[in-house]
Amino acid sequence: MVDLASYNTFGIHASAEALLTVANEQKLVEYVNALRKTPRPYFVLGGGANVLFVADFAGDILHVTNQDLEVINEDAQQVLVRVGAGYEWDAFVAWSVAKGYWGVELLSGIPGTVGASPVQNIGAYGAEAAEVIVEVEAVEIATGALVRFDVVDLALGYRTSRFKREWKNCYIVHHVCYRLSKQCDSYTKFERLGLENDILSPQEVRSRVLSIRASKLPSTKDIGSAGSFFKNPEVEQSVLEQLRSTYENMPYYATEHRDMYKLSAGWLIEQCGWKGYRVGDAGVYEKQALVLVNYGGATGREIFALSEQIADDVYKKMGVRLEREVEIVPAKY
Ligand SMILES: Cc1cc2nc3c(=O)[nH]c(=O)nc-3n(C[C@H](O)[C@H](O)[C@H](O)COP(=O)(O)OP(=O)(O)OC[C@H]3O[C@@H](n4cnc5c(N)ncnc54)[C@H](O)[C@@H]3O)c2cc1C
Repeated sequence: MVDLASYNTFGIHASAEALLTVANEQKLVEYVNALRKTPRPYFVLGGGANVLFVADFAGDILHVTNQDLEVINEDAQQVLVRVGAGYEWDAFVAWSVAKGYWGVELLSGIPGTVGASPVQNIGAYGAEAAEVIVEVEAVEIATGALVRFDVVDLALGYRTSRFKREWKNCYIVHHVCYRLSKQCDSYTKFERLGLENDILSPQEVRSRVLSIRASKLPSTKDIGSAGSFFKNPEVEQSVLEQLRSTYENMPYYATEHRDMYKLSAGWLIEQCGWKGYRVGDAGVYEKQALVLVNYGGATGREIFALSEQIADDVYKKMGVRLEREVEIVPAKY
């Protein structure tokens, strides 16, 4: 049995029967072929920055660790980079901004790996991985074949992709190809960071993002968390209007879907009085109500129970259902 506490950013103690590190796609194919012959439970783990272990895992934890990075094409405007799934996401961002490339600077400081970026469609400050991903390479579990997907095949949406829905447990990502730009084409997004358009370099944007993040989010070195525990909910216009008649100052955003609006889950949770709440070592971060934290000794089930209490309370008081962004592992326990 292996303790997974140092493999998840919540720092939850849970064990797995085996932790297998897979350093390249050939090894991944070998593992998948063995799995096809003798099926057993497995879970693909990147940096463990979006999972909550609520029980021991009766099977293999597969840790994809390939960390290669290769520029595969370049012209005057753009660069195509192929990056191993095990590469730390923020190290890739640091590499990109050091080269002066644009495209991922707003996604600075997001914990986890490159391999999870298309699974989650990671996003922050108005940017999403969907804007820079070109292609994803994976191993198909059913056949052991190496396959490639164009970004449009993935149906990337708000913190979701086919990998999380209809393709759940069907593929293991081993490389992601990103298109980075030599020119800045996202000035409008920088307004949210209070940056002037004309002073920018990718490095300046990154520094600003990192300092904003440090002021709002706990460092996982100090306090266990998985970032935002819930997604920002989308509601119909009638629900929005009803809520605004009570909460005039409630923040909301238009979405790409007509008559649908996004609300701030953090604001709703704070409004219901949960910000800074603590029970034992499980709590709601004092600076950001969307972040559930482990102050040291919380179990996954304690954090899960707290999340259920919060979601029920928000539904009771606001009529809005919160959906978890964090994945509960094992899914059935
Ligand atoms: C402090 C903090 C701040 C955060 N801020 C943000 C933020 O601003 N924006 C944001 O989008 N997210 C944020 N997150 C969440 C997290 O960083 C992302 O979800 C990230 O993509 C998780 O990467 P990971 O490698 O840790 O994935 P894991 O948590 O290990 O896994 C997540 C999912 O991806 C799957 N997966 C992982 N690797 C592979 C692979 N190679 N092949 C197939 N499936 C795979 C797993 O099976 C699982 O379903 C934050 C988390 C923390 C702790």
